[in-house]
Amino acid sequence: MTDSTSLPNHSWPELEPGWVWLCGAGPGDPGLLTLHGLNALRQADVIVYDALVEPAILDWAPQARHIYAGKRGGKPSAKQRDISLHLVELAREGKRVLRLKGGDPFVFGRGGEEAQTLVQHGIPIRIIPGISAGIGGLAYAGIPVTHRDVNQSVTFVTGHDQSGETPSSLDWDAISKGSQVIVIYMGMKHIARIASALRDAGRPADEPAAVVTTATTGGQQVLETTLGTIEADIEAARMTPPAIICIGRSVLMRQALDWQAMAAGEAPRNLDPLGRGRPAESA
Ligand code: SAH
Repeated sequence: MTDSTSLPNHSWPELEPGWVWLCGAGPGDPGLLTLHGLNALRQADVIVYDALVEPAILDWAPQARHIYAGKRGGKPSAKQRDISLHLVELAREGKRVLRLKGGDPFVFGRGGEEAQTLVQHGIPIRIIPGISAGIGGLAYAGIPVTHRDVNQSVTFVTGHDQSGETPSSLDWDAISKGSQVIVIYMGMKHIARIASALRDAGRPADEPAAVVTTATTGGQQVLETTLGTIEADIEAARMTPPAIICIGRSVLMRQALDWQAMAAGEAPRNLDPLGRGRPAESA
C-alpha cells in the first residue's frame, strides 16, 4: 500500500447497489481487518455494525451512514429478526450495504442466519471472513490455539444458548474427553457451571486456563488461572465480557510467548514452559 487510503493493485470486487456484504471486522485492533473488509468500507453507502466492532474501523468509511445494531449477551431473537429484515430493506432501497460484525461473521455471530434471510429474500450477498476472537484474541495474548506438543484438535464452544442459558445441548463430557484445548466464547456468565462440568468430566482442577477480555484492543486484559480457581480469579480481577476463555496446556506457552510484555521490555518468563527439555526447533 502506498498510503493509508489506497489498496494494493488487485482486481477488487465492486460492492454494487442492492447487494449486502457480510464482513468480519476482526476482534478489535483495526489492523486485523482484511483488505476485502477495507475495500468494502470504501464503497459502502450504509454500514450496519455490531457492538463488538472497534469504532476506529468505522472512521475508514466517512462517506457511509453508520447504523448501530448492537446486541449483547443472550438477548431474545426478536431483535435479530429486525436486523436481518432491515438489511433486506436497505438492499431493496438500492443501497450498497455492508454488514460489519465482530470477529468472523460465521463464528457465533448469527451471520449464517442473516445471510440466509438475505438469500431467502433474493438479495445478493458476499461473505468476507474475519479473524475470530477465539484465534486472534488468543494470539494477542501469546497463546497458540494449537501447539504440536499440546493439541491435535481444538473445540470452540459458546457458553450461552439462544435463551442465555448454558447450552444444555452441549455434551461437556464428550468435549472434555475429545479436545485437549477448549476455547469458550460468551462464557463469562456461566463460567462456574462450565468449569465444574469440565472437572466432573475428569479435567484436573490444576489445568491451565486463561481469560482474555477486550482482546487485541488497548484495553486487553489477560488472566492466567486454572480450571479450579477460574471463577474466583475472574471475580478478583473484576473482569467483564467480552472475553475469550481458553482451557488447556497451550495457555502455558504464554510464559514464553507474551509478545506484548516482551515488546514493553519484559524478559520472557520461561523459555520452555512445557518442559520439553530441548530447543523448539528440534523435532
Ligand atoms: N463473531 C465473533 C464472535 C461473536 S460472539 C468472532 O468470531 O469473534 C461474541 C463473543 O465473542 C464475546 O462474548 C466474546 O466471547 C467473544 N469476543 C469477541 N470479540 C472479543 C474480544 N475483542 N475480546 C474477547 N472476546 C471477544
